[in-house]
Amino acid sequence: MKVFRYETTGGWFKGNTHIHSTASDGGMTFTQLAELYAGGGYDFLFRTDHWVASDVASDKAAAGDPPVPLLWLDGIELDGNDDAGAAYHVVCLGLVRGMAREMGLEAGLAAARRQGAMCILAHPHWTGNTLDDTLRHDFDGVEVYNHVCRFLNGKSDGAIHWTAMLAENPNVLAFAADDAHLWPGHHGWNGGWVMVNASACTAEAITAALRAGNFYSSCGPEIRSIECRGNQVRVETSPVQFVRLVGPAWNGRPQGAFGGPLLTEASFELPADWPWIWLEMEDIQGRRAWTNPLYRI
Ligand SMILES: [Zn+2]
Ligand SMILES: [Zn+2]
Repeated sequence: MKVFRYETTGGWFKGNTHIHSTASDGGMTFTQLAELYAGGGYDFLFRTDHWVASDVASDKAAAGDPPVPLLWLDGIELDGNDDAGAAYHVVCLGLVRGMAREMGLEAGLAAARRQGAMCILAHPHWTGNTLDDTLRHDFDGVEVYNHVCRFLNGKSDGAIHWTAMLAENPNVLAFAADDAHLWPGHHGWNGGWVMVNASACTAEAITAALRAGNFYSSCGPEIRSIECRGNQVRVETSPVQFVRLVGPAWNGRPQGAFGGPLLTEASFELPADWPWIWLEMEDIQGRRAWTNPLYRI
């Protein structure tokens, strides 16, 4: 059964699902990252070091007083080749134990899943993943935007891979993420993030909302409300020049400012025959935001 995905009676919390610290190849410690991101208006971060599973409970104890100024959540980034030889980077969100690079990608993914982690295909364009690669490991989501890849070689966009995944599974979620490393020569942060609607900024509530897809991803635009009545979706946003309803292949319903006043709201009839639908906004600087697939199926 199709159910409208968004339920936005909670608060909006800003977070990032892909960050590296000095525990792998990042340039900042756990505490420095927390202070930086809290200053950027963030409420939570997942630490996702390469093959180093974070354990925020012990990190927090080591940090001592004052307590870190935002909610840290556990994660890891796996990389390697699967049994077919294709290379992947996968961000796994959740507390996982017993991970080591020597186990290889497929065993690592299986162990993360067994322990309840969400598995997100990271920066597929940068990695060089084909569309077929995206379909082999039943990913929960994909990075629709990866900020550091924009800096490294411009291959930051995962939307084409996302559409391929949605053709097989209309529930695949989209994440915009920084993948920040923050050492000289490896710049960039606060360029892609998620806004989660949850009852509270706790590990349980944020994780449950992410799993349900009750969040959107953004490089700039802010969605202030999103609701559905019957087959009409209505969205309120920060000022943007375009709002688009997006479906498979050529299907799209655009609304635009076209030189007039910028849009701060839009309504669309949701076509019954599109197997998946997302909404995206684009501001005057070309920065986008993406909802998840509007229906949970
Ligand atoms: Zn990576
Ligand atoms: Zn990374």
